[in-house]
Amino acid sequence: MAYDFDLFVIGAGSGGVRAARFAAGFGAKVAVAESRYLGGTCVNVGCVPKKLLVYGAHVADELEQAAGFGWTLEEGHFDWGTLIANKNREIERLNGIYRNLLLNSGVTLLRGHARLTGANEVEVEGQRYTAEHILIATGGWPQVPDIPGKELAITSNEAFYLKDLPRRVLVVGGGYIAVEFAGIFHGLGANTTLLYRGDLFLRGFDGSVRTHLKEELEKRGLDLQFNADIQRIDKLDDGSLKATLNDGRELLTDCVFYATGRRPMLDNLGLENTGVELDARGFIHVDDQYQTTAPSILAIGDVIGRVQLTPVALAEGMAVARRLFKPEQYRPVDYRNIPTAVFSQPPIGTVGLSEEQALEAGHKVQIFESRFRAMKLTLTDIQEKTLMKLVVDAETDKVLGCHMVGPDAGEIIQGLGIALKAGATKQQFDETIGVHPTAAEEFVTLRSITR
Ligand code: FAD
Ligand code: NDP
Repeated sequence: MAYDFDLFVIGAGSGGVRAARFAAGFGAKVAVAESRYLGGTCVNVGCVPKKLLVYGAHVADELEQAAGFGWTLEEGHFDWGTLIANKNREIERLNGIYRNLLLNSGVTLLRGHARLTGANEVEVEGQRYTAEHILIATGGWPQVPDIPGKELAITSNEAFYLKDLPRRVLVVGGGYIAVEFAGIFHGLGANTTLLYRGDLFLRGFDGSVRTHLKEELEKRGLDLQFNADIQRIDKLDDGSLKATLNDGRELLTDCVFYATGRRPMLDNLGLENTGVELDARGFIHVDDQYQTTAPSILAIGDVIGRVQLTPVALAEGMAVARRLFKPEQYRPVDYRNIPTAVFSQPPIGTVGLSEEQALEAGHKVQIFESRFRAMKLTLTDIQEKTLMKLVVDAETDKVLGCHMVGPDAGEIIQGLGIALKAGATKQQFDETIGVHPTAAEEFVTLRSITR
């Protein structure tokens, strides 16, 4: 049967654009449908605008440090409206770049909501298209628990477009988004409280990292409340919000920001017209080659809920394009040792196993840990400490995990990701000459075993 397209991609986000462009480059006839914004979550309401706001909040640190270096500054004034307008302009520029990337690679771009009408058929704006392969890359959406008053809360989607910086903010959650946005709001001057339901935030990260970040955030004056969760939210006559907690306490605020995880975006996708099945968590179930339970339909990125990171969606998109249209170049995605950063203030950079994961996996481990005050702070009164930690297999000498909390942690951890992928040993770390004077050199000069 002749199809309209070799590949029809639903969603022009990180994964979808990558798969579409490369498939077209390999000679396939490709269409992409996008209902909302080109570039998807990462470009519009994720990584990119988030990082711009983090930079904005970080300026406060630079201003605080300036006096130590001899600078006298007038009292600074921050204008949220300017930051958001400038951010929006940059996002529009990126939307245009994504559009050109797709069009220049020969992809047919369809604007509108796509709905599956069969295993090889998609409907967009009343028009039906057939395709030999269909790729679902529809991403995710914030999930807010079903409590009374949840409609009064915002999520990251709305936070990027707030008209004003709230004076008081309650951030709910203990994952990447909660920690990053608590830092943004606090850094920009809002009175910020982070509420997390468990004992300590960032579950799954290395224990030393979690404790260290908690201490540093508290030093900065961020109000962290653990074992705390909101039961209901009410709007008061003066426009402020009242959050009633599980322990009965009532907190007044101007903004309740939920960052309690993301669900797969499957709204009106028409999965019922196909044989596509979901896994136990509600994400699209795929095999190790991203094929769903309907053989002509594949899925990648946040909608399969494996690792919700842009570089992972890109790698999965690439793998699909190669497998379908350039099989001789196909290589499976390696999910081990994925480096990642939490852009908190100070940020976290991490790759490989945490101490807890290494022990659980049965490794006999040696822990090398260092805490120090960064050189840049020595001329200031700021007492922030940087943490660096290596988890090493005592039997093979292989470095199993590298963890850092401190300035530029994300930048530093990228290179260590290559070292871990190459299977570097602690001895090879030790034999690597440091770059002096940097904080990063600490990773190659950690000599004494902490535990
Ligand atoms: P998306 O990028 O979400 O793209 C899906 C696209 O599909 C969207 O454009 C959507 O409009 C479209 N769509 C959905 N349904 C339909 C339909 N039926 N028809 C047509 N189009 C449809 N990751 C990092 O690696 N680093 C970070 O710093 C980082 N920061 C983040 C900060 C925030 C606040 C958030 C929310 C996420 C962040 N992420 C970060 C995660 C990252 O954004 C996602 O992992 C990534 O965008 C997933 O890509 P994707 O292709 O699966 O989906
Ligand atoms: P996460 O899954 O990272 O964290 C969700 C948090 O919300 C957890 O602390 C969880 O607690 C808590 N939670 C879940 N359900 C409830 C509930 N019903 N009530 C109270 N608390 C709840 O999700 P995020 O929304 O922070 O981010 C989604 C994903 O996006 C991340 O996992 C990450 O993959 C990606 N991302 C990446 C970034 C980066 O690379 N820098 C930045 C931002 C997002 P518990 O741990 O107890 O389950």
